[in-house]
Amino acid sequence: MTEPARYDAIVIGAGISGMYQLHKLRALGLSALVLEAGTGVGGTWYWNRYPGARFDSESWSYGYSFSQEILDEWDWTEHFSPQPDTLRYLDFVADKLDLRRDIRFRSRATAAHWSETAREWRVATEDGATFRARFLVTAVGPLSAPTLPDIPGIGDFRGQSCHTARWPHEPVDFTGKRVAVIGTGATGVQTIQEVAKTAGRLTVFQRTPNWCAPLLNRKIDRDEMARIRADYPAIFSRCQETFACFIHTPDPRGTFEVSSKEREAFWERLYNEPGFGIWQGNFRDMLTDRAANALISEFVARKIRARVKDPAVAEKLIPKNHGFGTRRVPLETRYYEVYNQDNVELVDLTETPIERITAEGLRTSARAFEADIIVYATGFDAVTGSFDRIDIRGTEQRSLRDRWAGGPETFLGVLVDAFPNLLMLIGPHMALGNIPRSIEYNVEWVSDLLGYAATRGITRIEAGDGAVAEWTAHVRSLGQGLLSNEIDSWMTGVNRNVAGKNVRIINRYSGSAPAYRARCEAVAAAGYEGVRLE
Ligand code: NAP
Repeated sequence: MTEPARYDAIVIGAGISGMYQLHKLRALGLSALVLEAGTGVGGTWYWNRYPGARFDSESWSYGYSFSQEILDEWDWTEHFSPQPDTLRYLDFVADKLDLRRDIRFRSRATAAHWSETAREWRVATEDGATFRARFLVTAVGPLSAPTLPDIPGIGDFRGQSCHTARWPHEPVDFTGKRVAVIGTGATGVQTIQEVAKTAGRLTVFQRTPNWCAPLLNRKIDRDEMARIRADYPAIFSRCQETFACFIHTPDPRGTFEVSSKEREAFWERLYNEPGFGIWQGNFRDMLTDRAANALISEFVARKIRARVKDPAVAEKLIPKNHGFGTRRVPLETRYYEVYNQDNVELVDLTETPIERITAEGLRTSARAFEADIIVYATGFDAVTGSFDRIDIRGTEQRSLRDRWAGGPETFLGVLVDAFPNLLMLIGPHMALGNIPRSIEYNVEWVSDLLGYAATRGITRIEAGDGAVAEWTAHVRSLGQGLLSNEIDSWMTGVNRNVAGKNVRIINRYSGSAPAYRARCEAVAAAGYEGVRLE
């Protein structure tokens, strides 16, 4: 039997992080293979082809910043890029960097086992292939393990069913069709406002309403793109300085430090500005002070009431179990106005739960709904879910899934003890703001570590004694006092469609991005203090 092919590093995933990681590995002179489940690059932007999918961060703050050539040659056409353009951008990057020759497509990784004797990872893919590598870098993404609702009869439906994150490559025509959408997170909101334009009848099945705010997207013409291009250095340095790498950062004032008139005017301005200003650029205490949060929630509730004609429907669309911004805010374009259309109906599942999916559609406790298409905008087994779907085993065959059963434990979000030479990109305990900004830093830090190892003949990298416990305790303590951690959402690891995931955990780093980078830099400057290098 011939041994499987061996590389210096295997990267799982060819999304934004895996693509950049491959480029950096090559620059280090290391041999690398990327395993990608899809047929093309792009990760999130490859899979999420649902109608209306687009950025919630400004396009020009979201792309790669590391390559002047890419910055010079790529033109964004909209301030919040639609998915087809974003995928075109990532294809352009893959061409530019000639990435595809080291990416094995249609290769879903199913297992990764560490061999202590060989000091290498053995990675298996769904099609039965096996590969070996000294280092394993996971670039699997925090929102890439989609979940269907735990509703009986899902297989019985005779019409077309689509999960938004497994959308068909050919367009789905909604014209005149009876469409059911389950889920009203950021994905559901984007889908609903688009489908409502052409569907004959759209029924939205909402379990929990979310606080949404206007996106206010605009096209970018040539002149504006030229100004943006000239401004790139300032844009990216601003993203480096802000709390969550967005161009928006919290206002230093407290909600109650200004007069009610000033507060109202400030919120009015934020509500009428594009993007995440109202969430990320709001008063500094909005997500920690209950009274402050209640006040902004009331402001946004007033907006919803003003935009939805039927007061009973408006009330159903106003969240009652969580405050504004405690879940990632879906940004919308005339979402609330959709419910003023005659062809749209909102079904509140807290009043009439779905009992089952049938051959013809859905049945709630109140009545049956016939449908031609059911759209599942039901989200993801977030952050740890994509790790759980791979059988990852470290020293003594210990399983990562079991290790994280009570919530993830990491050092800097990058390493886990007993899992040597496993390096994670944008995994648990990472900041999830403007994600590509965090990704670039993450990839560069990991690449520096691999370069450090390569030049010193280091063949084994593992989080040192106590480092994981200390960092995990630090991440958990940062989460204390945040109203968002008192709420069920993917950000607190809750997904009631997945067994064992109905308990809130701290799965993300909620400190500032500059503080995170400072800590990573200090670790590196001290010769990777906290990391055992052999
Ligand atoms: P999500 O926020 O987790 O929303 C899932 C939705 O499905 C929720 O409304 C949930 O209701 C509902 N749901 C799940 N299981 C259900 C069931 N059994 N019965 C009825 N309803 C059920 O997922 P998402 O909308 O895909 O968004 C996830 C994240 O992706 C976002 O927060 C955002 O960070 C990112 N995203 C970004 C953009 C963008 O603009 N760039 C677009 C889309 C997504 P409950 O709330 O009651 O659980």
